[in-house]
Amino acid sequence: MGFGKLFIVSTPIGHLADMTYRAVETLKSVAVIACEDTRHTGILLSHYGIDKPLTSYFEHNKHFKSRGIINRLTRGEDVALVSDAGTPGISDPGYRVIHDAIDAGIEVVPVPGASAAAAALSVSGLPTDRFVFEGFLPPKTAARTKRLAELTQETRTIILYESPHRLCRALRDIQAVFGDIFMVCARELTKKFQEIRRQKVSALIAHFEETPARGEFVLLFNLRTQRELSP
Ligand code: SAM
Repeated sequence: MGFGKLFIVSTPIGHLADMTYRAVETLKSVAVIACEDTRHTGILLSHYGIDKPLTSYFEHNKHFKSRGIINRLTRGEDVALVSDAGTPGISDPGYRVIHDAIDAGIEVVPVPGASAAAAALSVSGLPTDRFVFEGFLPPKTAARTKRLAELTQETRTIILYESPHRLCRALRDIQAVFGDIFMVCARELTKKFQEIRRQKVSALIAHFEETPARGEFVLLFNLRTQRELSP
């Protein structure tokens, strides 16, 4: 018997219906699903009537769990990897087991779908022909400012992920490094309280100082295109 396949399966970033047919079929077909949080993924699986064993694979057990997953694959079992939201490997654990699987001669199969970066870019109104995904900025101000300063000459659209409790600090650092630039702030994409703000960074800071930042955020800007767009 040959090796199994490792399927990298994207799941919704909010709206449960943003699951592809192929993602559902794949999750129904594999022997086991590796996921970050078994309770969180359990909700998605029960919504789609998928009854499969789950095994946890997250940031702090990824080295150890990767070995177990590779063992199953080499025994001929198909395995699916999902994360809590969106595409595994995009600011989510995935790299370790994908790297190890390729190293072991196992086929890795993409089952593409939602990702917050692509969703935000698609509605931003900013240039999409060339863009750069910077993921999460460092949490501390000094390192964050340094990372931002490295981007001063960047001409492509820049995409960042940010957590709600660091949002205002990150926006202030962006203003300190680049000035009062025009930005797009995409909050809670595909969810009930989705909000896309296209404003100067000073206006975003004023807004989120007034209205506490809640939910999940993608920030985008293009240092060359500074023409403001309305909603
Ligand atoms: N793997 C995911 C993807 O493909 O987009 C990203 C996971 S990362 C741990 C979580 C971050 O993604 C959040 O802090 C936020 O920056 C962004 N994000 C995820 N879902 C989002 C949503 N519905 N709206 C806005 N941002 C979102």
